Amino acid sequence: MTFNKTVLATYASKSNPAISHDVRMGANGHIYCTCPGWRFQKKHPLNRTCTHLKQFAKAALVPKAG
Ligand SMILES: [Zn+2]
Repeated sequence: MTFNKTVLATYASKSNPAISHDVRMGANGHIYCTCPGWRFQKKHPLNRTCTHLKQFAKAALVPKAG
Protein backbone atom coordinates (compact mmCIF):
# COMPACT_ATOMS: atom_id res chain seq x y z
CA MET A 1 0.00 0.00 0.00
CA THR A 2 1.21 3.46 -0.79
CA PHE A 3 0.40 6.36 1.45
CA ASN A 4 1.37 9.53 -0.31
CA LYS A 5 -1.11 11.91 1.25
CA THR A 6 0.16 14.71 3.40
CA VAL A 7 -2.13 15.78 6.23
CA LEU A 8 -1.67 19.50 6.70
CA ALA A 9 -4.23 20.06 9.43
CA THR A 10 -6.97 18.23 11.28
CA TYR A 11 -10.18 19.85 12.46
CA ALA A 12 -12.77 18.28 14.73
CA SER A 13 -16.27 18.21 13.30
CA LYS A 14 -18.56 20.81 14.82
CA SER A 15 -21.61 18.56 14.64
CA ASN A 16 -19.85 15.45 15.90
CA PRO A 17 -16.66 15.90 17.95
CA ALA A 18 -15.89 12.21 17.53
CA ILE A 19 -15.25 12.90 13.87
CA SER A 20 -12.40 14.91 12.51
CA HIS A 21 -11.69 16.15 9.03
CA ASP A 22 -8.27 16.42 7.45
CA VAL A 23 -6.97 19.13 5.23
CA ARG A 24 -4.59 17.27 2.96
CA MET A 25 -2.29 17.85 0.09
CA GLY A 26 -2.83 15.41 -2.72
CA ALA A 27 -0.10 13.86 -4.84
CA ASN A 28 -0.69 16.53 -7.48
CA GLY A 29 -0.07 19.31 -4.97
CA HIS A 30 -3.58 20.61 -4.58
CA ILE A 31 -5.13 20.98 -1.17
CA TYR A 32 -8.41 19.31 -0.32
CA CYS A 33 -10.54 18.39 2.67
CA THR A 34 -12.08 15.10 3.71
CA CYS A 35 -15.31 16.59 5.09
CA PRO A 36 -18.68 15.98 3.41
CA GLY A 37 -19.10 19.71 2.90
CA TRP A 38 -16.12 19.62 0.59
CA ARG A 39 -16.77 16.30 -1.06
CA PHE A 40 -20.41 16.96 -1.91
CA GLN A 41 -19.68 20.11 -3.84
CA LYS A 42 -20.28 19.68 -7.54
CA LYS A 43 -17.48 22.02 -8.49
CA HIS A 44 -14.12 21.00 -9.81
CA PRO A 45 -11.93 19.95 -6.84
CA LEU A 46 -9.63 22.93 -7.37
CA ASN A 47 -12.57 25.29 -6.97
CA ARG A 48 -14.07 23.71 -3.88
CA THR A 49 -13.72 25.17 -0.45
CA CYS A 50 -15.07 24.60 3.04
CA THR A 51 -14.75 26.04 6.51
CA HIS A 52 -11.68 23.91 7.16
CA LEU A 53 -9.83 25.02 4.06
CA LYS A 54 -10.68 28.60 4.94
CA GLN A 55 -9.39 28.12 8.47
CA PHE A 56 -6.28 26.48 7.14
CA ALA A 57 -5.63 29.27 4.63
CA LYS A 58 -6.08 31.83 7.36
CA ALA A 59 -3.70 30.02 9.70
CA ALA A 60 -1.18 29.61 6.92
CA LEU A 61 -1.30 33.23 5.85
CA VAL A 62 -1.38 34.96 9.21
CA PRO A 63 2.01 34.84 10.89
CA LYS A 64 1.77 33.57 14.42
CA ALA A 65 2.50 36.20 17.01
CA GLY A 66 5.53 35.55 19.11
ZN1 LIG B 1 -13.71 20.64 5.23
